[in-house]
Amino acid sequence: MTLQQLLLGKSDCPCGKVHDCPIRHVVIKTDACRHLPKVTQAYHHILVVADTNTYAACGARVCEVLADRVCDTLIYTPEGILVPDESAIAALRARVSDRVDLILGIGSGVINDLCKFVSFDCGLPYVIVATAPSMDGYASRGAALILDGMKVTLNAAVPQAIVADVDVLAAAPMDMIRAGYGDIIGKYSCLNDWRLSREVRGEYLCEYVLQATYDEVEKTVALADGIAARSPEAIGALMEALVAVGILMAYVGNSRPASGSEHHMSHYFEIVGLTRGEPYLPHGIDVCCSAVQTALLREKLLSLDGSALLSAAFDRERYERDVRRIYGTVADEVIALQNKMGWYDTNRIPAYREKWARIREILADCPTAEQLLALVTRVGISYEDFCALYGDQKIKDGLLYAKDLKDRYTVLWMYCDLYFGGTFA
Ligand SMILES: [Zn+2]
Ligand SMILES: [Zn+2]
Repeated sequence: MTLQQLLLGKSDCPCGKVHDCPIRHVVIKTDACRHLPKVTQAYHHILVVADTNTYAACGARVCEVLADRVCDTLIYTPEGILVPDESAIAALRARVSDRVDLILGIGSGVINDLCKFVSFDCGLPYVIVATAPSMDGYASRGAALILDGMKVTLNAAVPQAIVADVDVLAAAPMDMIRAGYGDIIGKYSCLNDWRLSREVRGEYLCEYVLQATYDEVEKTVALADGIAARSPEAIGALMEALVAVGILMAYVGNSRPASGSEHHMSHYFEIVGLTRGEPYLPHGIDVCCSAVQTALLREKLLSLDGSALLSAAFDRERYERDVRRIYGTVADEVIALQNKMGWYDTNRIPAYREKWARIREILADCPTAEQLLALVTRVGISYEDFCALYGDQKIKDGLLYAKDLKDRYTVLWMYCDLYFGGTFA
C-alpha cells in the first residue's frame, strides 16, 4: 500500500467503518519545501511556528519560498526540552491573530502536537514541515499534550499537508531517527494487544488496518541498516511508514493500531519523569525498549497452565497506596480514571481460563523478546542503557501500573490480573 493509495481512503471495508483521512498532500522528497507554495496556495496570512533547533533545520528555506505570505513567526526558545503544556499552548494562541489563515509548524513531535491542537481549537487548518522521522503522530488526529502534569491525547484534526525534505530528515539528531524506527518496532507489541483485546473484551478490530500496519512494520525492519547509516533513501522510507501509520490511526479514529502496552510504558516513564524531575528517553526509544519488556511478559504468560489461573478479590487499599507512591501529584487523576472505567471491579480470570487456548495462540504470534532486542540493537539503540536508566523497581512498577494511565486493554491488564490473583506466586 503506497501513501497516495492510503490517502484515498477505503469506503468498502468489511469492518463496516468508512476509513478516510482528509490530508490533502504528503510530500517526502529532496527539497520538498519547494512544493510549499502550491500546497499552501489558498492561504495568505501564514503563522510559522518552530523552535530554535527546527528553525535552524529549515526555517529559512520555508520563509524564503513562502515569502510575504508569512505574516508572523513564533520561535520557541525553551531552556531544555520544549514541553507541550499550558504555557506553550498559551504562547502559540497569543500569536493567532484574526488575520492568520494557516498555521505552519516546522518540527517534529512537540511542534506538531502544539500546532495540531491550537489550530483545531482556533478552527484553522495547519500544515507541518517535518524535521525528523521521530514519531508517527504527523498524520494522526490525536494531539499528545501534557496538561496539569498529565500526558493526555486530545482529539484534534489531521494536517492539510505533511512536507518533509529527506535531506533535513537524514540530518536530524540520530536519537530522533532511532526513535522513529523504535516507534514502528513497537507496533509488534500494540498490534498483538489489539488482537488480545478483541479476544478478551470483544473490542472492535479492523483486519485491513491491522494487516496494513503490519506491512509498514515489515517494510521498516528491512530498512534498519540504511537507517543506521543515515541513508536519505531509507530515512525517507521510514518517514513514509510513520506517516502511513498515522493515516491508519485516522482510519479507525483512535491510536489503537499504533499504541498499546509498550506506549503505556513509555507514557509512564515520561509522566513519572516529569512529576519527579527524573530523566526519560526519547519517546520511540522508550517504546521499543518497553516492547522488549512486554514481550517478556507474553513469554511469562505463555508458560502458564490455563487451568491453574487464580483470582483474588481486588485489594483497593494496596492499589491506592501503590498508585500514590508511583504517581505522586497526579495519582488522584490516575485513580479517578480507573474508578470511572471500573475494570478493577471485573474478574476476568474465568474468561481467561475459558479462552486460554486462543489467548496463547495470540500471545505466541509476536516476536520474542530476543528477536525484538535484535531489531532494536540493529540501529544502535541500547536496551542496556534503558534498563540502567530506569532500574528494576521503576520497570516493575510500570509493568503493573503504566496501564492505569489509560483506558485501553493490553497485555499489561492480563499480567496485572494474574499477578494480583496470585498466579505467579
Ligand atoms: Zn476496516
Ligand atoms: Zn509512538
